[in-house]
Amino acid sequence: MGKLLHMTQLVLWDIDGTLVHAGNVAGEIFNQTIERVTGSRPTVQVRMSGKTDPQITREYLELMKIKDIESALEEILQTLPVDLERQQHLIREQGWVLPGIHSALDGVEALEGVEQTLLTGNLEKNARIKLKAFDLDHRFDFAVGAYGSDHHDRRELVPVALERYRRLRARVIPPHEVLVIGDSPNDLACARAGGARCLLVATGRTTFDELRELQPDFVMANLEDTSAFLETLL
Ligand SMILES: [Mg+2]
Repeated sequence: MGKLLHMTQLVLWDIDGTLVHAGNVAGEIFNQTIERVTGSRPTVQVRMSGKTDPQITREYLELMKIKDIESALEEILQTLPVDLERQQHLIREQGWVLPGIHSALDGVEALEGVEQTLLTGNLEKNARIKLKAFDLDHRFDFAVGAYGSDHHDRRELVPVALERYRRLRARVIPPHEVLVIGDSPNDLACARAGGARCLLVATGRTTFDELRELQPDFVMANLEDTSAFLETLL
């Protein structure tokens, strides 16, 4: 394999399973909010990994055979952040920051010409609430990130971030100089759809071997080894 040197200009971090584990709180809040809006509680749990909040909500409503999906969806998406914020203390108590993350974020921050922000299926408000619970919110400029509130299909989100970057930083970044970091096959699909490179980390629900089989640009068990992680950017 020839060695192409890429300088990553923009790092796009997934949240759940990549930066933090929010415990079971987020899943439980989906159940509570859906129950309050529709009158019934989901009896099965939708697999959430790598999906956007609107996508997860729609899957629940379809499984539950809710009649007016669009209005229920809108109401749930408006209510979710309120419910999540009210239970932010539970995220802090039950969740944790994944190994090596603080040091990895420091490492990227110290690189000249590289910025890091978020690319997550969370609604922007939920992203802020989750990261604030772990005191990680000050690490990112949310304005240049891309969120589940921007599109229900994660594969649309790399261009959203790049457009925000162009508008707010007056800088055009070619997609191949973007590194998407995530923990699920959906993160890779999102990176590929956007022409970005992808680092998959096995700190979520998908195992290292499963991730490696997908042949992302990089795969790591976790981000504990900061210098090995930073090499993926250079
Ligand atoms: Mg994830």
